[in-house]
Amino acid sequence: MIEVDLKIKPNYYNLYKDRNFPLILEKGIEGEWKLQEEGSIINLLDQEDEYVGRGYYGIQNKGIGWILTNKENEKIEERFFQKKLITALNKRKDFFYNENTTCFRVFNSIGDGIGGLSIDYYNDYFLFNWYSEGIYSFRNIIYKIFKKLVYYKGIYQKKRFDDNGKYIDDDDFVMGQRGEFPLTVKENGVEIAVDLNDGPMVGFFLDQREVRKTLMNKYSLNKEVLNTFSYTGIFSVFAALGGAKSTTSVDLANRSLEKTKEQFELNEINPEKNHIIVEDIFEYFSYAEKKSLKYDVVILDPPSFAKSKNFIFKADKNYGILIKNSLKIIKDKGLIIASTNMEKMDIQKFKDHIKEALNKMKKNYKIIEEFRLPDDFKINDSYPEGNYLKVLFIEVY
Ligand code: SAH
Repeated sequence: MIEVDLKIKPNYYNLYKDRNFPLILEKGIEGEWKLQEEGSIINLLDQEDEYVGRGYYGIQNKGIGWILTNKENEKIEERFFQKKLITALNKRKDFFYNENTTCFRVFNSIGDGIGGLSIDYYNDYFLFNWYSEGIYSFRNIIYKIFKKLVYYKGIYQKKRFDDNGKYIDDDDFVMGQRGEFPLTVKENGVEIAVDLNDGPMVGFFLDQREVRKTLMNKYSLNKEVLNTFSYTGIFSVFAALGGAKSTTSVDLANRSLEKTKEQFELNEINPEKNHIIVEDIFEYFSYAEKKSLKYDVVILDPPSFAKSKNFIFKADKNYGILIKNSLKIIKDKGLIIASTNMEKMDIQKFKDHIKEALNKMKKNYKIIEEFRLPDDFKINDSYPEGNYLKVLFIEVY
C-alpha cells in the first residue's frame, strides 16, 4: 500500500490540530504534491514534521479524503476496520431487537469513524454506500470482516463516485442471496417497499424516521395534507395512517405515481382520499391558489437543487419561495413542515431564511417541533456539518 507524508499549512493548524477536523481539504495542504492512487494512506504532518493525523486519499465533492486516526501508531489495517465496525454494530443493538422498525443506519460515515462509507440495514439485507474510489479500494477487507460480524441474507452496494459524486449504474448485488424486490421493511409498524437494486435510490430516506412518526401520531388526525416533492409518498403514507382526512402527493417524476401507489397498496390506503399528482410543484402551487384549495399541513422536503420549468431551485437561496407559496394555500393555524438536507446551510441560516419569508408575508408563527438526524445517524463532534438534516414544524397564523 502506498503511504505518503503531506504537510499542512500553518493557518490550518487550528482546524486539524486543535479541532481534529476529519475531512482532508486540498487547500489545507502545503506545496506541490500529486497522488496517483486513491486509497493511498496520507500522513498529515505539521511544518516541524510532527504527526497530526492519518487517513486515506479519496476524492469526494467536499474533500480529498478523511482522517481516520489521530493516534500516531494506529495503522489503517484489518484490526482498525474491525474495531470501528464492531463499535458501530454495538451502538445499534436496540435497533436490531426492535421488531417494529426493521430498517436503520448501521454505520454513518465519519460519525462512526470511517468517512466515505455508510451502511444501512433493510430487514436482513445490508446496503453499503461507497462515496469515493479511495474508500472503495478497502472494500475486500471491509466485507471480509463485516460478514463475520452479522447475520445477513444478502449484501448490496451503491458506488457513488463517478465524476460528480454520482451513482455508478451497475448490478448492485455483492454477496449472499439476492433479494426479491420490492422487499418489505417496517418503520414504527408501517410497511415500506424498498428495492436495493434499482438505481441510486432505494425508495425512501431513513433519516426522516422521527419526523414521520411525529407527523403520524400528532399532526395528521382529520387533517388535509399536501406533500410536496413527495417522491414515493412516504410522508403521505404516515399521514394517512395517522388519520388524515386526505393527502395530496405532488412530484415531478413520472415514476413517483406507480411508486407511491405501491406504498399505498402495501398499507391499504384508500386511493380516493389520497391523491397522487405528477406535476412541477410550482405549477401545482399556482393551480391550488387559483382554485382556492386550502390545506392544514404542507410538507416541504425539496432536494438541495431542483430543476423547474422556469428556474433552478437552490435550497439555500430560494427556500423562501416555497414558504411564500405554502402560505397562500394554508388554513389559519396551519402547519408547515420545512425540511432541508443541505449540508452547507446550517440550522441558524435555515431559520433566518424562513423567518424572513414569514415576515415578508406578515405572518405570525411558532416553531413547535425541531428535528435533526436520528440516533442511528451518529455524528462526529469534530464534524458537526455531518448533522445535515434540519426539519422545523412551523405553526402559522
Ligand atoms: N420528500 C421525499 C423525498 C424527496 S426527494 C421523502 O421524504 O421521501 C426529492 C424529490 O423532488 C424527487 O422525487 C424529485 O422528483 C422531486 N422534484 C424535484 N424537482 C421538483 C419540482 N420542481 N416539482 C416537484 N417535484 C420535484
